[in-house]
Amino acid sequence: MTLSLVEIYKSLLKRYGPQGWWPLIAHAGTNPTLRGRLTGYHPGNFELPNTEKQMLEIMLGGILAQNTSWVNAEKALLQLAQNDLIDIQNLIDTSVEQLAQLVRSSGYYNQKAARIHNLARYLESHPIRSLLSRTIAQVRPELRAIKGVGNETCDSILLYALKKPIFVVDAYTKKLLVRNGLISAISTYEEIQTLFHREIPQSVEIYNEFHALIVQHCVHCCLKVPLCDSCPLKELCQKLPFSAPKRGTKRSIKKDQR
Ligand code: SF4
Repeated sequence: MTLSLVEIYKSLLKRYGPQGWWPLIAHAGTNPTLRGRLTGYHPGNFELPNTEKQMLEIMLGGILAQNTSWVNAEKALLQLAQNDLIDIQNLIDTSVEQLAQLVRSSGYYNQKAARIHNLARYLESHPIRSLLSRTIAQVRPELRAIKGVGNETCDSILLYALKKPIFVVDAYTKKLLVRNGLISAISTYEEIQTLFHREIPQSVEIYNEFHALIVQHCVHCCLKVPLCDSCPLKELCQKLPFSAPKRGTKRSIKKDQR
């Protein structure tokens, strides 16, 4: 007998409580994740983001968090904020080289600066307010067509910035589901996402919370060497082996290490 996704969600929520994603640098809030700044999270408040600036901040955070910890991404985001660059026009008016220096802490800074520029140019011609009223089916292919915006970044933008009901799959999700016997190690992003969409009610709030809870669980408990004795899923988890793909391969990308 395996745990269902709904059972996993309920157990993780009971253990860790609401996570309050996506953190916003200017929001007082708290920090249930205990990593990075002590503020910015907004547990139980799904009204946020409620301004286009906050939505842009989350989009930029999605790019900056690629292949690094949130702590490093957050430092880069603060640099952008301090230079008045949580602003589409200001981003476009800043050279990629200047941006790269500001986002150095997030690693791969030349690539990320170029990606931020690409995103800003897209948003110049597709204003955030227009994206809010369009469907996932309309917006997703456009976001995916931006160089440097892969599945995970794209769906993070759709879910956390634009509040559209789509589940974000990451390396942690895959590890947890493989160990619980719900998917195989070769399951694709789309297959895993479809499983969530089939088993979990289509809800921005639940998808938001569930993804954040999986990250929290995999950072604190379901580690490379899992701490099964203290795990809320230990009774029914299959505890199957999971080997992360080697770094540098496409499947190894671990975007959020909050
Ligand atoms: S920590 Fe152990 S029991 Fe818990 S989900 Fe991971 S493998 Fe399963």
